Parts: sequence; C-alpha cells; structure tokens
Amino acid sequence: MAQTTGPRWALEKIKDRGTLIIGTSAGFPPFEMMKDGGGVEGVDIDIAQKIADALNVRLVVDNYDDFSMLISALQQGKVDMIVAGMTITDARNESVTFSMPYYKADQALVVLKTNDAIQSTEDLAGKKVAVNTGTTGQYYVEDELPGVDLNTYGTASDTFQALIGNKVDAVIIDEPVANNYITDDGPYQIVQVIETNEFYGIAMPKTNADDLIQEVNRILGEMIENGDLEDIISKWSKAA
Ligand code: GLN
Repeated sequence: MAQTTGPRWALEKIKDRGTLIIGTSAGFPPFEMMKDGGGVEGVDIDIAQKIADALNVRLVVDNYDDFSMLISALQQGKVDMIVAGMTITDARNESVTFSMPYYKADQALVVLKTNDAIQSTEDLAGKKVAVNTGTTGQYYVEDELPGVDLNTYGTASDTFQALIGNKVDAVIIDEPVANNYITDDGPYQIVQVIETNEFYGIAMPKTNADDLIQEVNRILGEMIENGDLEDIISKWSKAA
C-alpha cells in the first residue's frame, strides 16, 4: 500500500540528516563531563560515538545545564536520544522508550571527611541534603527520607560544590559518580551505599522510533558481547 504522507521514522531521519544528535548533561563524571577547551567526554559519549559510527553518521552532542530538561528536549524532537546515565524507571517509561540496560548503579550518601555526625541515612533528619534535580536521587529522598531538607542542583558537580562550600550537609547521588569524586587526600567520603538497583538506559522517543530502538539495542547488544562496553567503562573508571 502506497503511503505518501505519514510519520517520519526516527532512524530514517537520522540517516537522512547525517547526524545523530544526543542530549546529555555534563557534570556527571565519568559518564559525561566537560573537556578542557570545550566539548563533552565520558562513558556515554563513547557509547554514543559507537552508535553514530555503526549508523555511519556524525555524532552531535547537545549539552544541557540541567539534567531535568532532557526528557522534554527529546519529546520536542530537539535531540534524537538521551545518553545521560539515565535510570530506567516506570515513571519515565510513560514518556520515553528505553534501550536495553547498559550499566547498573546504586545511590551513595556522601559527606565531608570532617563530618562524623552523619553515618547513614538515619542521621539525616533535619539535615540539608543536595541532590541533582529530577533524578532518582531526588526521588529517593522524597519517597524514603521525609524529614530531610532537600536542596536541588542542576548537575552532580553542583551538588559537590554545595557540599565543599558547606551549603549542605550531605549529597545523595549515583554511586559510580560519587566514587569518581572520592580520592585518598580529597575532602569527600561515602558513608553509605543505598541499594536502589538502578539500570541506565538510552532514552528514545515513544512514537515513530521502533526502527531506531531496534538498531540501538542491536548495537548495544554487540558492544556487550564483544567487550567494547566494558572497555569503555574501564577506560573512564578511576584507577584504584
Ligand atoms: N541515574 C540518575 C537518574 O536517572 C541520575 C542521572 C544524572 O544525573 N545524569 O535520575
């Protein structure tokens, strides 16, 4: 049946355009962070580059100052997909379609090394806790820690700025990102890993994107199988 008008499929659009435009939010190391001299680098950017290579198009990275703007950017068609350490959740499944999972993460409770009053989430009542706006860290505090004074920031790196600047008492953030900020002689410590069992996925549009979703899952599946994904993750993981 000939169809003259109708939806344009996401993958077709990307191939015609010759570019894959991803939305991300730097300030979430090691998944995405600003490069010296501009541009964004990290695990997610390398994954996106592999996808762009497989599709034979050029990668364009659109950086958003605020993680919470990403889903609407996708819905408005400003980006083709979100690659931003985004956890697959039921609520987000209402507005986007996720790829297969590519990384597993929990949350971490971080305080300054000079703070021995906060040892677990049980010590947080009345305390100022920084989270990244619109993230699973925020939802965890809202759902599980009602007595907490919640302070929201645009990116993970902003939450650590607030902690070192003594504007907050603690940070709750994805554990791999928290780990990235911890060094032997640095100011921060993880006092508790909160097992939230999250899985990161690439978010794609809910409609007219079946072709893209299939292709992204095929490419990710290959990267998991041939070790490319593991190589990318270890490339960006802090040497222990
Ligand atoms: N994984 C968390 C979420 O999806 C945080 C992501 C981020 O800040 N980039 O909500």
